[in-house]
Amino acid sequence: MQFRKLIKYSDRVQHAYTLKPLDFGNNANMCEKKEIVLENYKKICRSLNLDDKNLYRPYQTHTNFIKKVNEEKPGIFTEDFQNIDGLITDKKDKVLSLSFADCTPLFFYSPLDNVIANVHSGWQGTYKEIAREAVKTLNKEYGCNPANLMCFIGPYIRKMCFEVDEDVKEMFYKKFEYTGRIDEIIEESENNSKYYIDTGLINKIILQEEGLSEYNIIDSGICTACYTDKLYSYRVEKENAGRNCSIISLI
Ligand SMILES: [Zn+2]
Repeated sequence: MQFRKLIKYSDRVQHAYTLKPLDFGNNANMCEKKEIVLENYKKICRSLNLDDKNLYRPYQTHTNFIKKVNEEKPGIFTEDFQNIDGLITDKKDKVLSLSFADCTPLFFYSPLDNVIANVHSGWQGTYKEIAREAVKTLNKEYGCNPANLMCFIGPYIRKMCFEVDEDVKEMFYKKFEYTGRIDEIIEESENNSKYYIDTGLINKIILQEEGLSEYNIIDSGICTACYTDKLYSYRVEKENAGRNCSIISLI
């Protein structure tokens, strides 16, 4: 999957979000699946004309930690990339990759500054406002003006498929009541004491608070839980869920 609006810059940036049957493994089963995963990275990198030897994949743990990629050793779950859920770079040929099953993939590109970010924003990362961290870090590290920044939102588990209990609802209520849009963010379910959370709307609000224009926030509109023929969904497939991967690289 690719975003048409980002393909426009394909002379400078390459990107993709993978579909089934490609599986990129999770933190726990990476070791046993490693051969298949490496083969899948080769396939997707080849199709994007990228070198899989330059691949960076952090050990994601639902943090809001963003790391700048310079000349660290590439690889999967390397020492330099533990407990990281967002990668940024202004360097060419650094293939930034993350994995997903329901969590929100955010690709960032600034055509003016020629910098990229790849972000993993699950409900926990969204609660911790990792999108805000990404924009702030791009600004701090590269002087990137948020007004120039484009954000592409991949498939994730959408509001009406993301039902949560009272405790999670309370967390979100307290934290995001200030937005004045809490009635859109949280909706009561027909199930007793269950609620739907619109994590995508939270990300969009945060991005606009940080200075992105609404026009530059492009949402795929796709729900992982509704399209398990093409996408992995932890909610639907539980422990058996594989992982889709996001890839972005300056070239
Ligand atoms: Zn759905």
